[in-house]
Parts: sequence; C-alpha cells; structure tokens
Amino acid sequence: MTEPDPAEAVLAGLDPEQRAAALAVRGPVCILAGAGTGKTRAITHRIAYAVRSGAVPPTQLLAVTFTARAAGELRTRLRKLGAHGVQARTFHAAALRQLTYFAPRVLGGGMPEVVDRPLRLVGNAAARLRLRTDRVELRDLAAEIDWAKAVLVTPDDYAARARAAGRETSTTPDTVAKVYAEYEQTKQRAGQLDFSDLLLVMAGAIEEYPDVAEEIRARYRHFVVDEYQDVSPLQQRMLDAWLGGREDVCVVGDANQTIYSFAGATPEHLLGFPRRYPEAVVVRLERDYRSTPQVVELANKLVRGNSDGAKLTLIGQRADGPAPAFAEHDDEPAEAVSVAAQCRVFIDAGTPAAEIAVLFRINAQSEVYEQALADAGVAYVLRGGERFFDRPEIREARLLLRGAARAGADSDDGAKLPDAVRSVLSSLNWHAEHPPPGGTARERWESLSALVTLADDLIATMPEAQLPELVGELDARAGAQHAPTVQGVTLASLHSAKGLEWDVVFLVGLTDTTVPIQHATTEAQIAEERRLLYVGITRARERVALSWALARSPGQRRARRPSRFLDGLRPHATRDAAPKPGKKKGPAPEAADAELFGRLRAWRKAQADAQGSPPYIVFSDATLVAIADARPPSRAALARISGVGPMKLERYAEPLLAVLGGADPHSVDPVATP
Ligand code: ATP
Ligand code: MG
Repeated sequence: MTEPDPAEAVLAGLDPEQRAAALAVRGPVCILAGAGTGKTRAITHRIAYAVRSGAVPPTQLLAVTFTARAAGELRTRLRKLGAHGVQARTFHAAALRQLTYFAPRVLGGGMPEVVDRPLRLVGNAAARLRLRTDRVELRDLAAEIDWAKAVLVTPDDYAARARAAGRETSTTPDTVAKVYAEYEQTKQRAGQLDFSDLLLVMAGAIEEYPDVAEEIRARYRHFVVDEYQDVSPLQQRMLDAWLGGREDVCVVGDANQTIYSFAGATPEHLLGFPRRYPEAVVVRLERDYRSTPQVVELANKLVRGNSDGAKLTLIGQRADGPAPAFAEHDDEPAEAVSVAAQCRVFIDAGTPAAEIAVLFRINAQSEVYEQALADAGVAYVLRGGERFFDRPEIREARLLLRGAARAGADSDDGAKLPDAVRSVLSSLNWHAEHPPPGGTARERWESLSALVTLADDLIATMPEAQLPELVGELDARAGAQHAPTVQGVTLASLHSAKGLEWDVVFLVGLTDTTVPIQHATTEAQIAEERRLLYVGITRARERVALSWALARSPGQRRARRPSRFLDGLRPHATRDAAPKPGKKKGPAPEAADAELFGRLRAWRKAQADAQGSPPYIVFSDATLVAIADARPPSRAALARISGVGPMKLERYAEPLLAVLGGADPHSVDPVATP
C-alpha cells in the first residue's frame, strides 16, 4: 500500500453528500440542510481538504459565521483537522480587522473608536430631540436603528420602509427616523463607529477605492459562510464586496434555523443561492448525526407546526436515547433548583459539566439559574465565557505568561509547557485544587484553569509547543474573542447557542409569554420564536429536558401556561413526568451503578481513541447506562440490551464482559477496527 494521502484522510469522515460538497473545492457550493446534519462538519472538512491537498493556500481562505462562539467552534474544528492558518471569524470581527488595516487609507487616520454599547448614544440623540424615553423605548429605538442599518435603510428612507415592513415601534416611524439621523450625526462628530458601521465602511471602501478592492481580493480568494440563513443585506453586501463578482464561495445553512430576522436577516439569500449561481454544486443533507432519534423526532414535530417548515425532515442516525423530558414547576426558583439538581446527578455520573447547557429565551432568566447551580455546587459558565479575555485575572495571566515566554527564550530549562503554565499561574495564587463553587474565587479559578487546559490541548496537537506558542495562541484567540473551554455548565440564550451542541440540554422557562416572547404578535414573529425553540432542541445530542414554571415567585398565583409550541408535543400530565434524576430512563444511572458506568465510559474512550472515532460511535451514553443498570453476565444477556446490535456484539462483547467482570478498563486491549 502507498502512504495514505493526508488530504484524502480528511474525507474519510464524511458521508457521500458531504463528500461531494468537500470535493468541490472551488465554489460556488451551497449546502441546504437541517440541524445536526453535518453542515459545519462538511465545510470544515472541505476547507481542510482544500488546504491539505494544496488546492488553496490557507491564508487566502476566509470563513465567516455569526456568533463569536460559532467562530470559535469553527477554529477548533479546523485546527483538529490540521487546517492551520485559515481565518474563521464573525462578519464583524473580519471587517474590524480589515478596516483597522485600511483605516489610514480610507479614513485618513487611525482606527476610530468602536462603540459597543450604542444605547447611551441613542439616549443622547433622543434627549437632544427633547424626547422623553424610558429604558424599554430606548432599547426599542436602538433595535430599530440596528435593523435599519442591517437592511441598508438610511434615516431618510426609514419611515417609509418601516411602514412597508410592518415594523412595530413604540413611537412613530417619523420619530424613529429623526432619532436615527441624530444618532448618526452625533456618532460621526465624535469620530466613532458602531458595529454596523464596520461592515458599511469596509464594504464602502472596497466599492469606492480600486486599490483597496484589489488588495483585499488578492488577499482573500475563497469564502465560506456558515449559518448563511441568517445573513442580512448588510452582511451580504460585505460578502459581495469581498467576492467582487468571483464565484469562489461556499454557503451552508438551514432556513428552519433563521432566528435573526427581527434584526434584518433573511433566508432568501440562502434559498436563492442556486438561482443566483446556476453552476453551483447544491447539496442537501437529511441524516442527523448529532442527536438521538428521540430528540430528532421532537424537533421534526415542532418544526412541522410552521407552515413553511415541513419541507425538511431529519432522520436520526444515532442509537436510541432517553425520551425528551417535560416538567412543570410551581415557580421559577423551584424550576431552577430542579434543573441544578439534575445537573449535579449527571456530573456525578460522569457527564462533563461542559457537556451540559441550560438555555433560556432572555438573559434576565439566567440569574435564578446562577444561584441554583452555585447552591448545588455546580460550576457554570455564563453565556459561554464571552468577554473571557476582558476578565482581570486573564489579563494578568497573559501579562505574566508573556513575560515568562520572553525570559524563557534564553534560559531554555526544558520545562514542559503545561508545567510552565502551572508555575506561572501559581504566582496568581492558582492551585490545582479548586475552591468551592459559586462566588468570584471559583469563577477566577475556573478561568485560570481554562488556560491550563488550553496548554494541555496545545501540546496534544503541537507536542513541541512552548510558552511563546501559547502566548501566540492566546493573542489569536483574544483577537477573535474565542474563549477557551471553561469547565462548567453553560448558561446561554437560545440565540447564542446556534451551531453548538451538548450531550444534555435543558430548555427552561418555556411559558407562553416567554417562548414565544410576549412582544411577538404577528404570524411571522411567532414562526421565528418557534424556530428559536427548534434551534434549542436540536442542540442536544443525548437528552433534552423542557420545563416551565406556573408562577414567577413562590406564593404567587400560578397563572402561567406552558408554551403553546409544546401543545401536541408533551404528554398530558407533565407535572410528574419530570424524570427523577438517576432513574433508569436516561444517561444518569443510579449511584450504585455510577462506578460501573464510569469504568464503561473509560473503556469506551480508550476503544474510541484506538479506532479514531468519537466515543458515541462505540456506544451511546444511553446504552452504557442500560448496560450498567442490567450488568449482563453473558453474551446472550448483553445482546438483549437496546443499542447492542449484532455487529457491536460481535466486536465488543469480549472487552465489555471483561469490564463488567471487574477488569480495569485501561488494561483491556482495544479491539482492532475491521
Ligand atoms: P447546525 O445546523 O446545528 O449548525 P450542522 O449541520 O452544522 O448543525 P454539525 O455540527 O456539522 O451539524 O454536525 C453535528 C454533529 O454530527 C457533529 O458532532 C459532527 O461531528 C457529527 N457528524 C456530522 N457528520 C458526520 C458524519 N458523516 N459522520 C459522523 N459524525 C458526523
Ligand atoms: Mg453548524
């Protein structure tokens, strides 16, 4: 046999349709497919294949997506595939970086200040117009300005366009238009830019300055856009400016996951792509690799409720898992306490905290969960650790690491990177032992620990890495706002969860005034809320738990209704249907079985590593739980467990029975892949 082709190897993990997309290294390519079908996987493998086969120089490729976390996810996956040097950013981060470079040429000076909280600016503009506004109205005005800029509407055109689009505003469209105009002027006078301006100015620069256009188009020749269903006209204009009529673009998306149309996004660009590029390779994917059939079925049912959502039905590929759980609670604190207790059980049974998420509709819902998780002794990460690099302990740590990297350059005492990092962090009072959960000490400890983990990860992909490489990695991540994984249960809004996945997902606060949100009144707005819940459900690999509370606080009248979207999805009596954590249904075994479950997982990990596949390919958590529960004494008994088919039995019966018989999972030899 000849040596395996390093580029071909990247294609091995793709199904035929994904492979077709990956092989079309030169665009245009369009992947239209549902949640969890491997769109992001297809594009990351496509990029890696293009780069590793030499078809595309990595520095000429720009991959864009919509949230900082999703961009981080892209980067992580690309790194694992050995596609180094490819940029994966949000539209805004990419535009910011380019504009910073071109500012002297197109703005005649340094990079202007970017206002990240435009609310104050909007408030000033309203005040100058002698408008009396409360906070809600201000937010509404800011949202309208944001929408107008995203759909490329100027203050002069705002009123007419807002009426035509049926925008519901708290003041008249003419008043909004005046505030918008005043806002733009104040901002300009102060020499500031808002986030939308980054794209407007950069796109404008490419359109107006031939030398800028030429330089940027020479630099970037290949474009990939993930989550393309949520592209706004402004972002599309940016993309068109980058492309300059060239066709090397690959877009992927799922119209059923459009959740930013309130902010001007539209799936029309995605759906119209094959028409715009008749030559495009168009790929549709239906197999859902992420979630169990139970999760997939729930998602399918939910999406069928939208008149335009029935076209795509997902087909679950994974082994069976637990049924979705529905739970009704008296009040929000009770709901939060229950969720926190379940998190505790899952973690104790071996699910890493970072594989659990609690997702809510609005950020204000987070607080009661922070409290409950802290009380239950469960570490958590708020909104996925965005702004990680702004934390004081991380700033300090980076300074110290940088200093140590410089000093170490000539000393060369040969210390391994993780040890070097631990020793630097110990001067910030960090110890391997963690303080009790809750409170700032623990938060500080968790974020510093994330740096240690990052060092461990770096060594895994780059064994000779030293402090300077880690410092470089941190700089790159800080530039892209790509926080390293902090161990803890993720608390995040449904909007910020797009593109991500966890083993266990709690969808909380599902009352009828929260999902759909109270101010969603039109059919289109309600449909968007339903898609938001669809996004939430499809984040779960193994288990999804949906819950709501009948009152906000203890003792209040229990007047709320569960979300109308759950009608027809949830069983009638949901009050007691909440799974008691630790019952046989789900991947949380009884405490007595937890030890065996832990050993089975350890064996599965070793086996998965040996055959180079993700662990769930060997067995799902649900199957391992079933095995731990049943403790089958023989091959025949093992065969009766759901999830252990004839092929798996053939392959894994021997090592499994050994582990069941008490063998150390690490001393059991992995079986060879066929
Ligand atoms: P979303 O719409 O939520 O963004 P997606 O279509 O981008 O989802 P991915 O995140 O790429 O889906 O894939 C979902 C999960 O399924 C990932 O864990 C991925 O590794 C896995 N997966 C995708 N394709 C395959 C495949 N061909 N074989 C095995 N696993 C796969
Ligand atoms: Mg994706």
